[in-house]
Amino acid sequence: MANELAIYAAHSDNSKGRVHQDDGSEYRNEYQRDRDRVIHSSAFRRLEYKTQVFVNHEGDMFRTRLTHSIEVAQIGRTIARALNVNEDLTEAICLAHDLGHTPFGHAGQDALNDCMQDYGGFEHNLQSLRIVDLLEQRYAIFPGLNLTFETREGILKHCSKNNALTLASIGERFLNNEKPGLEAQIANIADEIAYNNHDIDDGLRAGLLDIESLRQCEIVDIHYDNVKNKWQDLDDSHLRHEIIRRMINYVVSDLIETSEALIGAVKPNDIDEVRRCGKSLIKMSEKTENMHKILKKYLRDNLYRHDRVNSMAEKAKETVEYLFNSYMNKPELLTEKIQKEIESNADNNDSLKFARLVADYVAGMTDRFAFSEHERISGSSI
Ligand code: MG
Repeated sequence: MANELAIYAAHSDNSKGRVHQDDGSEYRNEYQRDRDRVIHSSAFRRLEYKTQVFVNHEGDMFRTRLTHSIEVAQIGRTIARALNVNEDLTEAICLAHDLGHTPFGHAGQDALNDCMQDYGGFEHNLQSLRIVDLLEQRYAIFPGLNLTFETREGILKHCSKNNALTLASIGERFLNNEKPGLEAQIANIADEIAYNNHDIDDGLRAGLLDIESLRQCEIVDIHYDNVKNKWQDLDDSHLRHEIIRRMINYVVSDLIETSEALIGAVKPNDIDEVRRCGKSLIKMSEKTENMHKILKKYLRDNLYRHDRVNSMAEKAKETVEYLFNSYMNKPELLTEKIQKEIESNADNNDSLKFARLVADYVAGMTDRFAFSEHERISGSSI
């Protein structure tokens, strides 16, 4: 039997609700419905063919945005349950957190942001919110997925003050320096824990990292020694997995214990007191946080900037720029549906709206669709 939800958790019955009036469900609470809407969305399915670090077609064993999101949800749910906060809400936020990612990971996002410089820029986090608020078209009476305030609050991890001003109540916390609920804070850190660990796994498997060098990072070294002390003759694959599962467990346990103590010291009486308390209550201990930061830096220097990753990033950048500029110059290359939307805006000749439609289209592409569009338009493959 699950423990009762803590008073400072997000309670489905006290949700700040949805933008559009929506009947409840007999069998599921509001956050379960949010999670299910995310799972059934087409943006979620497309994550299967979007890059995390390695481009999808580089190998079937690597993480994609979809498997990454599922791993984030697994870690997030463990933490939420241990802290007696809302597991369903945490899961909904984790599964939705990367919906707005462009094809080709960060290289794609940076390229699209450059293309959009004169039109308000492009930010994947804001795009995730745009997808659930507007772009998914499946319900007869409202646009988007019409998710609850709490799920949307969790999806919008960061936001500039200028953008926050355009987002009504969901942007307010960035203007008032407030935190989101604990479930959102958990999803945010679960994301980091997931990618730090699975990028080591993928990097080692791809031969871009090596375990001896990784031992410069204390957190790897400690768990390497633990595994080696127990089994001296493990093959590389077992060694890798035994180290990584220990690292995840170590960081998650530390996070749960540290957060429990922080929450116990602040004693928030409800989710609004969590929001207004002025600091994050979901944290690792200082020692673990430092080890985690060192590992993050190691991965930045040695994996994300590796020649093989860089050369793919260059291709990605070229592809995104080429597609964006082609559609901007020749709208007839776009789908009929988008062309109709452009025509319906034609009276006010709004170039901002036009560019945003093109950005939405490019951002929604999978890696392989972006490559095939490039080939269709240019007549040659990249
Ligand atoms: Mg992520």
